[in-house]
Amino acid sequence: MHRILVALRVRPVSDAELEQGATLIAHRVDNNMVVLMDPQEDPDDILRANRSREKQYVFDYSFDGRSTQEEVYAYTTRPLIESVIEGFNATVFAYGATGAGKTYTMLGTEHEPGVMARSLNALFEEMYRTSENMVYQVSMSYLEIYNEMIRDLLNPESGFLELREDAKGVQVTGLSEVNAKSTKEVMELLQQGNKQRTQEPTKANKTSSRSHAVLQVTVKQRSRVRNTTQEVRVGKLYMIDLAGSERAAQTQNRGKRMKEGAHINRSLLALGNCINALCEKGGKAYVNYRDSKLTRLLKDALGGNCKTVMIAHISPASTSFDESRNTLLYADRAK
Ligand code: ADP
Ligand code: MG
Repeated sequence: MHRILVALRVRPVSDAELEQGATLIAHRVDNNMVVLMDPQEDPDDILRANRSREKQYVFDYSFDGRSTQEEVYAYTTRPLIESVIEGFNATVFAYGATGAGKTYTMLGTEHEPGVMARSLNALFEEMYRTSENMVYQVSMSYLEIYNEMIRDLLNPESGFLELREDAKGVQVTGLSEVNAKSTKEVMELLQQGNKQRTQEPTKANKTSSRSHAVLQVTVKQRSRVRNTTQEVRVGKLYMIDLAGSERAAQTQNRGKRMKEGAHINRSLLALGNCINALCEKGGKAYVNYRDSKLTRLLKDALGGNCKTVMIAHISPASTSFDESRNTLLYADRAK
């Protein structure tokens, strides 16, 4: 049975939410527990039923507005670095509705870099630390999946790219690979790439992320001692800023954007189904990767000896109750 580490991060309330008159309905209780209160529920009903107004959810870790970027990285992703260096694959997802804090966790800001830059930094450090016996090469690709189409975020001019499966595994044809050398360089590349992401204004949000952004880091190493040019180990780390999980129905979109919503739901649903099949007790369930581009791309990085982490995100505001509950339920199912 494959086990997934599931963390939940409650972001700080925003000024905009407070201006809308939002109250705080979600908070972190301890290292594992988050509670959510239904703002619509009749307090008398709850009193009569003699139960708490708050519903409790338990995860491997929970974070809130006071948690630092370093803490989130250290508990969720740092434990994967070693196994990637050892030649295994690993995946980190940021899940949640638009505005819930996914990009903040994955990309972060110049002064508060997120999981992506911190992971690469750790790989660089490891690379220099052990470079006496080993030759390491760390390269990165950054792509988006939008409407089931793949675009290179580091080279947007290259158009839509194809996903291919051959003896070497899953490959995106023509995807650029950059040999980055420093965290600063990485951060600049990621920030540039992120500006290339497809952003569509929807009714729910001015800039909602309709695409999955996938950072793929490959660590290749060979021994200096044996004097061979053959790569002895290849490990891959996928770090994914998923598209907003809000339901298409909620954004009341029509036409083109409705279809986008359907695609997003399809790939998030396919991802959820894969994760559930992988975590099935006994580990014998059939895992169907074919239902979306995202799961096809991740075929070699989910399950098996691979490590998987999901960081789910919610806003603490009453105005986001439906989305927060959906996210808590999705994350709860993934455990
Ligand atoms: P998403 O990528 O899920 O749509 P963002 O990461 O863009 O959401 O977050 C929405 C807003 O909230 C941004 O302005 C972001 O800077 C802010 N924010 C999110 N999480 C945090 C956090 N943990 N601490 C401070 N600000 C945050
Ligand atoms: Mg985002």
